[in-house]
Parts: sequence; structure tokens; C-alpha cells
Amino acid sequence: MKLVSIVVPFYNEEPMAPHFFSKLYEVLEPLKQYQFEIVAVNDGSKDKTLDILKGIQKEHKEIRIVNLSRNFGHEPAVAAGLSVAKGDAIIPMDADLQDPPEVIPLLLEKWEEGYDVVNARRKQRKKDSFMKKTTAQLFYKFIHKHSGKVKVPQDVGHYRLVSRRVLDEVLKLGEITRVFRVEVPFVGFKTTFVDYARPEREFGETHYNYKSMLDLASDSITSTSPNLLRFILKLTVALVCLNALNGVSLLTFAILHWTNAFRGIGEFGLWMWLIIFVLVLMTTIIMGSLSLMAEYQSKMMKEVQHRPFFIIDEIIE
Ligand code: UDP
Ligand code: MG
Repeated sequence: MKLVSIVVPFYNEEPMAPHFFSKLYEVLEPLKQYQFEIVAVNDGSKDKTLDILKGIQKEHKEIRIVNLSRNFGHEPAVAAGLSVAKGDAIIPMDADLQDPPEVIPLLLEKWEEGYDVVNARRKQRKKDSFMKKTTAQLFYKFIHKHSGKVKVPQDVGHYRLVSRRVLDEVLKLGEITRVFRVEVPFVGFKTTFVDYARPEREFGETHYNYKSMLDLASDSITSTSPNLLRFILKLTVALVCLNALNGVSLLTFAILHWTNAFRGIGEFGLWMWLIIFVLVLMTTIIMGSLSLMAEYQSKMMKEVQHRPFFIIDEIIE
């Protein structure tokens, strides 16, 4: 029988946890053809979440509790759960029912069709605030544009199914800053989508504020690709062009002035122009040095991140 791991991080989810499990079991019960393990990660909750988990575990032996030493955050909590998950397929999801368990059978269906990654995609975010919707949209657009050959899917968070071999490849990645949603597309393999409407959180409250969202966005963008550093180079090229144009015009007017053909700018004007030219030139030199450093830094980042150069799906002979 195939084993499916469901990985759920819990942080101060006292009001939510019982609802989550009753809803989850409603969905899992009819899926008799699978064996399930539920990896519940307690991310240093300060309320009674751990006791609740232990209580539920008494009746459900398939629950494994991973108790972290303190609160590490959503991303590390999921990573901890994934590191111990034993399933042939692994589904990370939130504990607040915003990742509705009803989607699980659809994910499994696609997995059975042969997909290694089945992304649960948020189709509507009706209930999210205007700010959250807009920032999320901006984030996904930006990362999509700058992630090079890695195509980070829009509106997909943690919730998805990954096959054992995809998870193994993700766990092999050597980086310390782990962002699951950009690591999975990096690893690749046959991928598909299942759409769902994202409901509102019914109990408890979100642990994300704008600062943690910004941290996540920054981690995702910088760990996906060093290409953003190229911006400095682009700016330098623009400055070089501007400076060349400026230099040629300055020289032309200086010659016109010396040959008495046109003296409209005046001696003082020419001196001022020369000062501006030298200032822009110096800025260009600084920017040039910075872009040189950025180039080396992006190489260094790739080396430190130690991501594989390629991943083979299969060899057909
Ligand atoms: N979570 C966690 N550690 C934290 C913050 C959140 O394990 O420091 C868990 C939380 O219990 C939930 C999931 O991560 O299961 C998503 O959190 P939340 O619903 O607050 O995020 P949002 O849906 O608002 O993005
Ligand atoms: Mg939530």
C-alpha cells in the first residue's frame, strides 16, 4: 500500500487544531487505498497546541509529532516535517484549513496519473485584503520574471503534492535559506496543477505580517537567482552611454569656443560642464567597480548555494 505523508506546521493553533483534524479525517477516511502518516510539527507553540496534538495522537496512531526546540517560523517548520516524512508522496499543508483538505484526493489522482509535482493553485483570493492580494500578485510577477529558467508558478504556496524523488532532490539542496515554493520548481520533474478557492481562516489568526511577508519575498527572490545583481551592470552601461554623450558634446562646445565659432556658453559655463562631467565619470567608475564585484558575488552565491548543475529524470537506452 502506498504511504502518503501529510506535513502540517502548528504554531499557536489551539483554536484551530481540533477543527483541522476532524476536517482532515473526513477527507482521508474514504481513501482506503492509501496508508497515511501525518507529520504534525509543533513550531514552539506557546499555547496548548502540543497537548492537543498529543491528545489526538492517542486515537490516531498515524500522527507523528515533531516538536521543535523553539519557534522557528513557517518555512523552517515545514522543512523539519519534510525531513522526517517517509511517504511515497508528500503533501505539506497549513493547519488553518486555508489549504482545504478536500483538494487532497485531486492531488492524489494526478499523482496516480504519473505527475511528480501537483501544485494546488489558489484560484480566487476573494477573502484576502486588497493589500495582500496586490502584494502577492506583485511578488509572483516579479519572481516569475527574474527566476530565469526556473519557472516559479503563480499563486502556489506550500500546498502541493510532491513525489518521493522530488522531495529527495529538494532535501539534497545544500542551501540554508530554504524556500520550499521556489525549490520545488528548481528541482523540476513532471508538474501539473489543481485549482481551488482559498477560504478565510475561521479560527485563530494569521502569523504573517508585512515584515514576515517581505522576508519571505526577499528570501524567495534572492535564493532563486542572483540575476538581480545584474541591475547594477545595466545601470553602469546606461551611465557609460550618458557619459560618452556628455563628453562628446562638452568637447564639441569647447572646440567651438576656442575657435571663436560659438562662445554662447561662456568660459564659466564650460568649467561648470567639465565639473559635472568629471562627477558623472567618477560615479560611473564606482558603479563599474560595484558591478564587477556583483558579478563575482553572483558566482560566489551559486558556489555557496551548491545547487546541482542538472538533475536527471531518467536515462532511456
Ligand atoms: N506557522 C508556523 N510557525 C510560525 C508561523 C506559522 O508553523 O512561526 C504555521 C501556522 O500554524 C499555519 C501555517 O504555518 O499552519 C501558516 O500560517 P498562517 O496561517 O498564519 O499564514 P497565512 O495563511 O496567513 O499566510
Ligand atoms: Mg493561513
